[in-house]
Formats: sequence, structure tokens, C-alpha cells
Amino acid sequence: MRKTFAAALGLIALTAPLSAQTPAPPPAPTASARELFGRAATAAPLAARAIGTYIRGCLSGAVALPVDGKTWQVMRLSRNRNWGHPRLVQFLERFAARVPAIAGWAGILVGDLAQPRGGPMLTGHLSHQIGLDADIWLTPMPARTLTPAEREEMSAINAVAEDWNDIDPKVWTPAHVRVIKAAAEDPLVERVLVNPAIKKALCRDAGTDRAWLRKVRPWYGHNWHMHIRIGCPPGSTECKPQDAVPPGDGCGIELAWWFRPEALKPRPVGPQRVMKLSELPATCTKVLVAP
Ligand SMILES: [Zn+2]
Repeated sequence: MRKTFAAALGLIALTAPLSAQTPAPPPAPTASARELFGRAATAAPLAARAIGTYIRGCLSGAVALPVDGKTWQVMRLSRNRNWGHPRLVQFLERFAARVPAIAGWAGILVGDLAQPRGGPMLTGHLSHQIGLDADIWLTPMPARTLTPAEREEMSAINAVAEDWNDIDPKVWTPAHVRVIKAAAEDPLVERVLVNPAIKKALCRDAGTDRAWLRKVRPWYGHNWHMHIRIGCPPGSTECKPQDAVPPGDGCGIELAWWFRPEALKPRPVGPQRVMKLSELPATCTKVLVAP
């Protein structure tokens, strides 16, 4: 019986296709990082770690934000970008739960977090690479479950006026101020990126309680969604923090810069440079090849 079993095993070994015996060759260091990470369909089953910088890194041990919660819905499901460091996912769940009381919205619509193993993406975003960034739409969640098709096709509402000089008063509400303020006031959040026109409106509407404005940073785009960035989690020893935000509410000369004619034009984008795998931290190759 034993002999027959061994023989059978031998037979299997002899006839098994070559691919079952030989592990895939390691990816070439010169290979395009965004092609490799864009193809990763599942998380790397390793400890949860944000590795590298927000614009050059990867993510191990990611978890997916469930596509439906009581107070959130994930949009653009086909992109498979609802993955983050567990700390980011916990933050989003906790934050979403507070939104009905804060804003009177049914909840939030959540855009991109990161890919299952983080890394650069084939389309969009320079950042969102280490599982600590998330986009939250400025459109309130409807009080019903959107269909998968609606989540692909529905567009966000632009909160900024056509000339980019201020918010669109037909769209902007006090609830927007409260939602952005609540995000900025969360101790885990280091930065909230919004369009300069939105920062202008927040500076105007904040009143005397202004400390939270420091974390709200003007940036190109971000007229459909705000971008939330949390800090490096404890234990992510290879996560490189950003410089602290400068002191002050950022409502003065720094904000005025954004409204000069040359800054109001769309951001000049040259041909996007393709990052090689070797340009990411070495640990990212391990994250990529983990089974
Ligand atoms: Zn973003």
C-alpha cells in the first residue's frame, strides 16, 4: 500500500506541469512598479505595515474596507482600491459612524484607498501607495444602497465654482464645513487635502475655533472629494513620515498664492515617469511576491 502510494506520488511529480514545480521567477528590478502592483488582486498575508513614503512605497497585511457599512458605501468597486492599513480602515469606520450626527448626512461615499498591496497605480494618484490615504466624496451618501452600476457611473458633485476662485454656493453647505472639520480634528489624521477654493471657504466659515484649519491643506483638484491622510502607524518602522504641517491656520499669504493666475491653471502634467520596482523600498519586492 505504502509502495503504491509512493509510486503514485512519483507519477504525479513526473507528470505535473512544470509551472506547479517551479516558483515564478522574481520580478525584474527594472519592471514597472505600477504594472506589478496594479495586478496584485489580494493583500500580502504578512504583518500590517506601511512601507516607504506616501508617494513611493507599498503595503503589507492590508484589509479591505467593506463595500457597505451602515454609514458608508464604497464607490468604483471595479478598481479594487478599497484596501488600507487596518488603522486607516478602522478610522474610516469610526468616522463614518459619526457623520449622521455631525452633518445630518446618511453617511459618506468613499473613493480610493489603496491597492491590495499598495504601490503605484496604473491610473490616477501619485500618493495612496502605503494604505494611509483615503478619498471621501463631498457628495453625501444617499439614504439607500447604490447599485454596482451606480457606483461606477455616478459622478461626484463639484463643490468649486467654474472660475476656481471660490466654492459653488449652490453646492456648498455648513454640513461640508462640519464634516471636513471633524476629519481634521481626529488625532489620527495628519492632513486633509482640499481644493484652494474650499480652503478659502473654510477659512471664512470657521469663526474663532481655527486650530483644525492647520491640517487642511490646499492642493490641486480635490474639488470632488477631500483626501484624508493618517500618520505612520506604530510598528511600521519603514514608514517615512511627512514633515509636520506649518504652524498657523494657513489662511493668509500661503493660501493667496493659489489664486494667482498661473496657479489657477490646471496643474502642468508632463509624461508620467514610470517608476521601476527597484525605486521602491526593497521590502516591497517581498510584499509583491508573498503568496
Ligand atoms: Zn486622494
